Amino acid sequence: MTTFLCSPSSSPPLVSYTNMMSDKKKNNNGNGIDIGVSKRKRMSQPRAEEVRDIEDSFSSFTKEEAFKLRVGLLNWYDHHHRELPWRKTFKQQHTLQQEEEEEEVQKRAYGVWVSEVMLQQTQVQTVIPYYNRWMLKWPTIHHLSLASLEEVNEMWAGLGYYRRARFLLEGAKQVVAEGGKIPKMASMLRKIPGIGDYTAGAIASIAFNEVVPVVDGNVVRVIARLKALSTNPKKSVTVKRFWKLAAEVVDPIRPGDFNQALMELGATLCTPLNPSCSSCPSSEICQALSISKRDSSVAVTDYPIKVVKAKQRCDFSAVCVVELLGFDTMLDENPSASKFILVKRPDEGLLAGLWEFPSVPLDGETVKSARREAVNQFLIKVFKIDTKKTCNIVSREDVGEFVHIFTHIRLKLYVELLVLQLKGRVDDLLKGQRNETTIWKCVDSDSLSSMGLTSSVRKVYSMVQKFKQKSVPSKHVPAKKRNRTSKRN
Ligand code: SF4
Repeated sequence: MTTFLCSPSSSPPLVSYTNMMSDKKKNNNGNGIDIGVSKRKRMSQPRAEEVRDIEDSFSSFTKEEAFKLRVGLLNWYDHHHRELPWRKTFKQQHTLQQEEEEEEVQKRAYGVWVSEVMLQQTQVQTVIPYYNRWMLKWPTIHHLSLASLEEVNEMWAGLGYYRRARFLLEGAKQVVAEGGKIPKMASMLRKIPGIGDYTAGAIASIAFNEVVPVVDGNVVRVIARLKALSTNPKKSVTVKRFWKLAAEVVDPIRPGDFNQALMELGATLCTPLNPSCSSCPSSEICQALSISKRDSSVAVTDYPIKVVKAKQRCDFSAVCVVELLGFDTMLDENPSASKFILVKRPDEGLLAGLWEFPSVPLDGETVKSARREAVNQFLIKVFKIDTKKTCNIVSREDVGEFVHIFTHIRLKLYVELLVLQLKGRVDDLLKGQRNETTIWKCVDSDSLSSMGLTSSVRKVYSMVQKFKQKSVPSKHVPAKKRNRTSKRN
């Protein structure tokens, strides 16, 4: 692949940053621009002729640096980029007739959109099968716009951060409602639900060749090292400046490839802990590398600084997997005859609109009796299931507990399996519940195994299945014992 680049004009010599790194405290300019290196020992004071304005040094690549970066990075990308499903499709455009090109470019834009949204907070290897399944089911934005939220959530199940899936659907519906063409410019793309600066830049540059930058975690790391910036990359003022720096270097002829190359470099060579500087196409202009060679107390991994994560909130929840047996159900002869209750989460908030087993939030670490009481109240309120009146408890066992990590929450889940034999049929239970505010349904084990569930719900179900395999089948519990169990609860 040919590399087209702009020629550099004459530019000032590069400035040494070594001595500017000498004192982290002294070099903080009060605007969150800290050019010092934490943890490492102090270095000597800067010589006057090596110092230039911090703001200026932060905010610009020289034209020579930008030129070298483009040449090295695009050549490297042409030879070493990973073959990924969302890239394969795009290569074929060169063979198309002109009249087909617009349609193909729209498909590319849609593919970039889907892949970039999936890749946020998620590793490439995890995304690949999801992307392939998604594109098979909804190959164009028009197909996606006809999907339901339930279908989209099912397809997304296990990928996490479910708001992304909902926004993708809402975005597709909006684009189709407004004529069916994905906008070509980043400024227009940002008006679509769920498309922020990053995704807009990726779609506009990769699919439509607009000369706009992208900045994600990989780009921040690479630029921070190239410019030896150890400033806190999470501060909004810093983020703006990284966007400015990225805009300075984006290649004017191949912006999409350049942006992908920069991200690819961060993902494969310039990694957080073990960067492969000896193989890096940008090592010639990398100031972090240059400093580390001159001063053994500095490592390229000192850039950017590591930001201490906010402490996670600890939440607690009692999960009750309710298995319902109809009046005449013979569990062993027909395992799918039992039904499990699933509850739909509210349309806003964490895991919005997704299905889960009935659960009750707890105030903290809670003893078994208090958990069961809370669950009993919930079952009466939502399902009109009174474990003492409307059904017999066949078994009620604690299955286990585990911690599920969300972005800012550590959720501890206590899981129990409650097997109930209704005084009536499962269908009768459902009939009386149509107007309740909580949406719920009963599904058999086959449906449960095949439907899209969040990873924590799947884990709960897997724990229950393993527990049941180890336990004596409930139908063999003697009637007297069942009655005693029923009274205790
Ligand atoms: S030389 Fe090393 S630290 Fe610098 S950009 Fe390349 S991989 Fe990253």
